[in-house]
Amino acid sequence: MELWFTEKQTPELGITCKVKDVLHTEKSQYQQIAVLDTYQFGRLLALDGIIQTTICDEFVYHEMIAHVPLFTHPNPKRVLVIGGGDGGAIREVLKHKSVEAAYLAEIDGRVVEVSKQYLPEISCALDDPRCHVEIGDGIKFVQEHKGEFDVIIVDSTDPIGPAVGLFHQEFYRSLYDALSDNGLFVAQTESPFYNAGLISDIYRSISEVFPITRLYLAHVPTYPGGMWSFTIGSKSYDPIDVRIDVKGMDMCYYTPELHKAAFVLPEFVKNIIKGG
Ligand code: SAM
Repeated sequence: MELWFTEKQTPELGITCKVKDVLHTEKSQYQQIAVLDTYQFGRLLALDGIIQTTICDEFVYHEMIAHVPLFTHPNPKRVLVIGGGDGGAIREVLKHKSVEAAYLAEIDGRVVEVSKQYLPEISCALDDPRCHVEIGDGIKFVQEHKGEFDVIIVDSTDPIGPAVGLFHQEFYRSLYDALSDNGLFVAQTESPFYNAGLISDIYRSISEVFPITRLYLAHVPTYPGGMWSFTIGSKSYDPIDVRIDVKGMDMCYYTPELHKAAFVLPEFVKNIIKGG
């Protein structure tokens, strides 16, 4: 008998893939966790039925959420990832030799454990001595740390459940306070095709807190619409005006040219961030 998994990406649209094997399911304190082995994307992590990452396309999202902000800062030493329990963002952060300490503030310890067990290619850097895993609410973690981080990466689930507060202006103000003098943050900010209103609100909220706000795009086949947005709030460095040296670093999507190209936006996305 054939087994198929469908994520309802919107109430009217789904992505469906054929499943080889169900490797793990459990209900944690926060969410339903599933790891499926699929024919098209390899092993896949889903939380509450929503695809978080897959072995085949994870490199796009993790490289773009990490390297764009890290190459924008000329000397990132202390980095915080909020969410990101699969470890993919941390793996990319630790490719930067300047990074002395990378903190992961993930609310659900079970996501970290399950990822270590079933997604070792993604979670492989979580045991690096420079990585410190803190299980708890990222909102509280940020409120308790002032002026400490050069780069903060908000690698969250969609704005549902415990992630709702990660999309509010109050949280962006806490991020501002948690960053060092010239620090910057990036957040995954959903699909321009299906979340235009949300992106417009996020962009406005961030630009009311940070002097520099920039949105960029990447192509992730398993995320709704395939086109994904990320938004940077920066105290002083502008991500479109950077010198990048990737010598000795192993990447599959990110290049210095792509860093710049990712900020070139289609007209409809420009209109979203203009609020129109
Ligand atoms: N790349 C993914 C995406 O866009 O679908 C996100 C991956 S990562 C698995 C998201 C993580 O954010 C989840 O493990 C979830 O538990 C965590 N999370 C949600 N709300 C959080 C909060 N308030 N504090 C810390 N972590 C949170």
